[in-house]
Amino acid sequence: MDALDHVSLLENRWDDAIADSLSPEALLVYRSNLLGSDKRITNYGGGNTSSKLYMRDPLTGEMVKVLWVKGSGGDIGSITLDGFATLYMDKLHRLRSIYKGTDQEDEMVGLYNHCTFNLNPRATSIDTALHGFIDHPHVDHVHPDAIIAIAASEDSRSLTREIFGDTVGWVPWRRPGFELGLWLKRFSDDNPRAKGLVLEAHGLFTWGETQKDCYETTLSVINKAIAFLAERSRGKTMFGGQRIAAAAPAQRRAVAAVVMPVIRGLISRDGPLKLGHFDDSPEVLEFVGSQDLPKLAPLGTSCPDHFLRTKIAPLVLDFDPATQTATDLLPGLPAALEGYRQSYAAYYERCRRPNSPPMRDPNAVVYLIPGVGMLTFAGDKATARIAGEFYLNAINVMRGSSTVSTYRGLPEQEAFDIEYWLLEEAKLQRMPKPRVLAGKIAFITGGAGGIGMATARRLMQDGACVVLCDIDRDVLATSKDELTKTFGRDVVATVWADVTKEDAIVAAFREAAAAFGGLDICVCNAGIASAAPLEDTSIALWQKNIDILATGYFLTAREAFRLMKEQALGGSIIMVASKNALVASPGASAYCTAKASELHLSRCIALEGAPLGIRSNVVNPDAVLRGSRIWKGEWGDQRAASYKKSSLDELEAVYRERSLLKRSVYPEDIAEGIAFFASDISSKSTGNIINIDAGNANAFTR
Ligand code: NAD
Repeated sequence: MDALDHVSLLENRWDDAIADSLSPEALLVYRSNLLGSDKRITNYGGGNTSSKLYMRDPLTGEMVKVLWVKGSGGDIGSITLDGFATLYMDKLHRLRSIYKGTDQEDEMVGLYNHCTFNLNPRATSIDTALHGFIDHPHVDHVHPDAIIAIAASEDSRSLTREIFGDTVGWVPWRRPGFELGLWLKRFSDDNPRAKGLVLEAHGLFTWGETQKDCYETTLSVINKAIAFLAERSRGKTMFGGQRIAAAAPAQRRAVAAVVMPVIRGLISRDGPLKLGHFDDSPEVLEFVGSQDLPKLAPLGTSCPDHFLRTKIAPLVLDFDPATQTATDLLPGLPAALEGYRQSYAAYYERCRRPNSPPMRDPNAVVYLIPGVGMLTFAGDKATARIAGEFYLNAINVMRGSSTVSTYRGLPEQEAFDIEYWLLEEAKLQRMPKPRVLAGKIAFITGGAGGIGMATARRLMQDGACVVLCDIDRDVLATSKDELTKTFGRDVVATVWADVTKEDAIVAAFREAAAAFGGLDICVCNAGIASAAPLEDTSIALWQKNIDILATGYFLTAREAFRLMKEQALGGSIIMVASKNALVASPGASAYCTAKASELHLSRCIALEGAPLGIRSNVVNPDAVLRGSRIWKGEWGDQRAASYKKSSLDELEAVYRERSLLKRSVYPEDIAEGIAFFASDISSKSTGNIINIDAGNANAFTR
């Protein structure tokens, strides 16, 4: 295997035409966004930027020097002005006289609040002193893979000198905080010619006299490292060469779809639900299939940002797609996962301090499968994806580092002290309470329709990830766009399927499993409406109703049931039937019969599902005209004609007046009932029915 092509240099994207029109603060945002938008410069949420600017003091009216520095949390790629903390520089410097030593380091973070300029509520970050004490107007701190590859090498100090001479310095590993801030001050004061420094095992600091100067220095330092690594890797075999060949893309995804629900079940059983992410990019496949995988993976990641997201080391599963199938992997999973948990607990016990917070979830975050790719799991989908991106950063670091030297992870105790740092714990405690459906995965057939979309929105508002399944490709695409705009790209997936086709439904559920890692909620909803007197009901019309409404619901529910059973976390299956499941209507025998079968199917599933914690319930809508595509077609015209009405609005009024409560029923009302059965609020209900029809005496259940 030859070296992958990693020689693409960062391009200078500074635009004077834009920059010249910006205020100094806005220019800091501009610089930060430019840096953060390229993952080769820094990982998501990683790094920070600052400027020391003269501002008018609101109390005295005098011009004072203020440090603008990225606050706690956020990402420089998307940061806006309110993401920066502001501190009086003179007060910040005065803290140096209070500081007594490293034992007191964490307390210093609380004192930053006393330096706040202009009542800015943005919480200051641990890195504040690192920026504040470097006596240059603009400072960038980023985590570029190419620099960390140097920083995490056994001989990182001499490599830094070899590449940069005396323009970029080097300091040994020290976790970020007040003390490191003083180290950086000493270095920058003593080395006026230096433009930055490499922090061992961690990342890069660079500075400049103007914002543009600072940005360009950051780029040129990283580019020098990229070019150096590329030059050194020319003609070299990466990671010791290939051990296991990658399977074909479809086979890789199929393995992920089988394995992910089982892993998800095993790691979610005793705690909050996890969501999964699958990555089989060439860089991942090269690493997981390499000779060096068994040697490198246990060394763990280096940059603190990396292992805070990925845990110190991944779990490597033993697999070869050339000789094994996905199901061969399953029997060994419980022991492999338990082994990881035990070794994590042992690491916790070895490294814990008297005041360490209790051990957190001991399950692996990153799972590497040779020939297949990488799975990552976390409490929400974006975090699972980002953990994967971070491990990819770590792979890049290991590749670079082992090309020019020997890769070295962070010492175990250092890693532990960061992972269980009380300040990190405080950050976790500040996290908002998870939403009702956080971590849950919902599959909705007819998902692009009126009730389907209202349900998707409702479940997503409560934190669920949603897979929309529909036969209408165009509406599926626009529905995805709409949901992505509101809820973000991570939490929505779409899959085309005709619910009457067994193969298509099986494939659709496999896709859902590979997209999010499993299934918790299945809404059987894809449907049609039809009307014809009994004598005029053709076998084709009869069959169409049975195919979509009876067989389609059966195939969907059966596949959901199988997946939920494999995952072993219970689940909720909800059938959107109809008032006509309970009440016969003249002129609609095929539709009413098919809808009634859904009701009974749901009850049968409730019986078989109960021992597995799988609940099955029914929501019965009636006369939901607004938003429904069923009513836009022939069905609506026929109904309107039979009531001698010329518009759907008039028809809606007829149904409203017919109801006991004299109210119209909307897709959002149906979604509310579905959300009830989807959530644990209804955890003690199965085999049940909710009518959402504004009241209909004939449909009263008994
Ligand atoms: P809708 O037409 O807006 O949505 C139904 C969706 O199902 C559409 O997007 C359609 O493309 C999809 N679909 C149809 N056949 C499919 C197939 N073979 N495979 C995959 N997808 C398919 O209608 P709606 O009002 O949102 O209806 C949703 C469910 O509610 C249906 O089962 C319907 O019978 C039931 N229902 C609706 C009402 C009402 O008044 N709207 C009343 C009672 C029951």
